[in-house]
Amino acid sequence: MKNETYKDNLKRIADQINDTCSRVNRDPKEITLIAVTKNVEVDTISDFLEIGHTDFGESRPQELVKRNAFIAESINHDRKMAGLNPDQVTYLPRWHMIGHLQRNKVRQILPFVGYIHSVDSLRLAEEINTSAARLGLEHKVRIFMQVNTSEEKQKTGLAVGAVIPLADQICTLPNLEIVGLMTMAPHTDDLQKCSFCFGRLREIFEEIKGENIIGPSFQHLSMGMSQDYIAAIEKGATMLRIGSAIFNNPNGQL
Ligand SMILES: *Cc1c(COP(=O)(O)O)cnc(C)c1O
Repeated sequence: MKNETYKDNLKRIADQINDTCSRVNRDPKEITLIAVTKNVEVDTISDFLEIGHTDFGESRPQELVKRNAFIAESINHDRKMAGLNPDQVTYLPRWHMIGHLQRNKVRQILPFVGYIHSVDSLRLAEEINTSAARLGLEHKVRIFMQVNTSEEKQKTGLAVGAVIPLADQICTLPNLEIVGLMTMAPHTDDLQKCSFCFGRLREIFEEIKGENIIGPSFQHLSMGMSQDYIAAIEKGATMLRIGSAIFNNPNGQL
């Protein structure tokens, strides 16, 4: 990789994941690190793919579309070149849509997105369902329900009490598969507040599992960012969404 800093950062985060997991008796293999690549040059994504890091998160649909096109093109190019070197392995990206999604942007991202982490209304779920049918997708679209566990007014996400009713409704949509719950902790240095939010998401998750509302696809907790991912692992996170801890240099600049 061109930028050794990124490699060091990845290593440091992997060490933290391992240490935290052994402290709380979890298997680090349960945890996927999503590299949040907003603000990052697209060549960096190619560098990550080269070392086998395949999970990427973007918060803006347009950016996701552009980056996917760029990466697809460079993979095609590499594959042509690989005619010369048949042993070359190519890793394909798995894209995670992690930001607020407007209904009119759904159709652009559906053909290639791996997971949508930010479903917070029936209308959005219905749009995904109809678009998937129109596009003739062969797979179900894997989604997370985003929950506003901090109950801050400006935050997006479902109110805690709205999660189970929406899960019931989404389960009637044939082209969607709910794989888990997602939350963002408040922007604060107070890790206890973050921990409380993650614990809350975990409780809702256990309740849904206990009542078997969704079925076996329901496995994931998408929570934990650069500042709070250790607290998230302690509370059972299976997908961490980390940007600045990977891509900022030690001085905090991009
Ligand atoms: C930007 C972003 C992240 C990553 O945040 P960092 O603090 O840079 O790790 C995670 N989740 C969402 C939804 C984001 O928008």
